[in-house]
Amino acid sequence: MKLTDIKGIGPKTGALFAKLHIETAEDLISYYPVHYDEYLPPVPAGDAVVGGRCAVEGRIARGVFRKVSGSKTIITTEIDDLTGKLHLIWYNAPYVGSLLKKGSVFIFRGTVTRRRNELYMEHPEIFTLHAYDEKIKTLSPVYGLTKGLTNNAVVKAVKGAFALVGAVPEYLPERVLETYGLMGEEEASYKIHFPADKEEFIKARRRIAFDELFLFILAMRTLKARQGEDANAFPMKLTWDTEELIGSLPFALTHAQERTWQEIEADLSGSSRMSRLIQGDVGSGKTILAFLAMQMCASNGYQSALMAPTEVLARQHYEKLCALVEEHHIEGLHPVLLTGSLSASAKKKALALIADGSANAVIGTHALIEERVSYKALALVITDEQHRFGVCQREALSDKGGSPHMMVMSATPIPRTLGIVWYGDLAVSVIDELPGNRLPIRNCVVGPSYMPAALRFIKKEAEAGHQAYVICPMIESSDGVDAENVFDAAKKIRKELPGLTVGILHGRMKPAEKDAVMEAFRTGETTILVSTTVVEVGVDVPNATVMLVINAERFGLAQLHQLRGRVGRGSAQSYCIFMAGLESETVTKRMEILNRSNDGFEIAEKDFELRGPGDLLGIRQSGDAVFRLADPAFDRELMEKAGKLAAAVVGDSPSLEGENLNRVRQRLDRFMQESMRTITL
Ligand code: ADP
Ligand code: MG
Repeated sequence: MKLTDIKGIGPKTGALFAKLHIETAEDLISYYPVHYDEYLPPVPAGDAVVGGRCAVEGRIARGVFRKVSGSKTIITTEIDDLTGKLHLIWYNAPYVGSLLKKGSVFIFRGTVTRRRNELYMEHPEIFTLHAYDEKIKTLSPVYGLTKGLTNNAVVKAVKGAFALVGAVPEYLPERVLETYGLMGEEEASYKIHFPADKEEFIKARRRIAFDELFLFILAMRTLKARQGEDANAFPMKLTWDTEELIGSLPFALTHAQERTWQEIEADLSGSSRMSRLIQGDVGSGKTILAFLAMQMCASNGYQSALMAPTEVLARQHYEKLCALVEEHHIEGLHPVLLTGSLSASAKKKALALIADGSANAVIGTHALIEERVSYKALALVITDEQHRFGVCQREALSDKGGSPHMMVMSATPIPRTLGIVWYGDLAVSVIDELPGNRLPIRNCVVGPSYMPAALRFIKKEAEAGHQAYVICPMIESSDGVDAENVFDAAKKIRKELPGLTVGILHGRMKPAEKDAVMEAFRTGETTILVSTTVVEVGVDVPNATVMLVINAERFGLAQLHQLRGRVGRGSAQSYCIFMAGLESETVTKRMEILNRSNDGFEIAEKDFELRGPGDLLGIRQSGDAVFRLADPAFDRELMEKAGKLAAAVVGDSPSLEGENLNRVRQRLDRFMQESMRTITL
């Protein structure tokens, strides 16, 4: 249903929502909050955590003071008890002066900062004890916003969308809900926006995460069941071309790369279709293996396609392959790029080259699977950073040929016990070795007060000819979230480091804009790239030596490890600065793990052990993965259950026929359609 059918949404607000890629009422319903503002029990002044939002109960110790400074009226007061002292400040809020009296007790809620070793709270909300009591433990949703759209407007729109769309029938039988302890789908879809408390949030999240996992696994299983016989339809001969290329590379393959390459060769030349997962930590050198496989296809007279989850990554792969072809005078390998942002004429040209087979190494985004792309002889489909794709994209691409070989590359360490559930019966090659020319990355975990020093450090590296990433959890500022956003950070950095060029990158930019920004960073035209986690996926700029992550406590450790993988790719010493927004011991402890370990697998394990369901309230990046709420590193128990149920369902009926399964099939269809659109990065 159209967005403008919702009461109170006109074309103007509709256009703002379109910027967030929300076009329909259904989109709005699945536009989950990025965060929840939680009204925690009040603490005494001395327990206020710097950088965090908290509620402090206190007596107005001395007076309430009023000062006029230019056009501003400033009201200050302080609370002071045995535990500590907290200064409170309001600007241009005259009503505050009349509300607060010396000696009276209130609860003040806001973000605590430290200045000259004193604690401050600017513009705290004020509650009477009774009023706060009513609010305690409630959660209010915080949405990703864009300029002109307030959080309240989104809240209202979401409520309007629920009113408009009405009830969706449950697709799982009552019996299943009971067995697995799941909330109803309809209730969960509402409560994920408006949970009464944390417990309700956890239940709603659990249900939605279960659906995501169950439907994902089900999609894989049913497709598998339909695909049937797996003979090698494109048998290939080993070729000298690949050996020559390996020999002429500026580096020697690591043993792990060599071993994996032999496995790939054996698959392609063997008697059955290849279905192989190449799992290797960030920086282990997966890309060159993809290129070698593409070359082997070309030498055998076939086409191959490499699908990347982002435009940025697709273009990077394309340019690298072109450079490789040129440098090594590789004959017979003709790369072409196909992405959504190509001009109409460029796209037409690319499509023609793919159709007549004169382009035999096709690289792109999910544009590769659009209806109108037809391949001449597609023998190999490679997906990079596989966890970003729905299985459906992969399968749609493989449908383009008569059962082409499949190779998926991933840096996500899936726990071994869950591999079968996750990847079905893919063969797995593990690249468990990093190229030897790397210096270990130097890490540090610091507090927010370290910012000036961090910027000085970036400046020093820039003067030595290097580049830096600065990562923030948010794109734009949102009410009620104490986390740095890309725009504000870039502004500050431009002000502090006026001589350096700063680029901005985030997931809501148009693909062509993203390309331009990435290109400028790759060529060194911009020195500092301020970005969200868009760069987490596969970006390779070896000249970048500093990774500064602001509000690092907002990210999972596995994600931080991925981010760290963006530096340390060249021969120069690289540095990673994890800057926590909170002065909290648990945060520091969690991040110390990154200091100690550089093993993605071990980090994911520890991350899993240390996170509780409460941590899930933290900020999520919206729209950048197949799963919006499920988290494979965290939801293990759920994943196993979902896998069991999927196996049972498929066991009953591989094609999901039969009355009971009708609803499940319909839900699966919807999931597939949605997941086709997921990739918006
Ligand atoms: P990832 O596995 O994260 O996708 P990439 O394929 O992007 O890693 O490789 C990271 C960097 O390491 C690239 O710049 C690549 O050229 C380089 N590289 C790959 N293999 C080797 C090797 N055996 N020795 C040295 N450098 C390598
Ligand atoms: Mg990669």
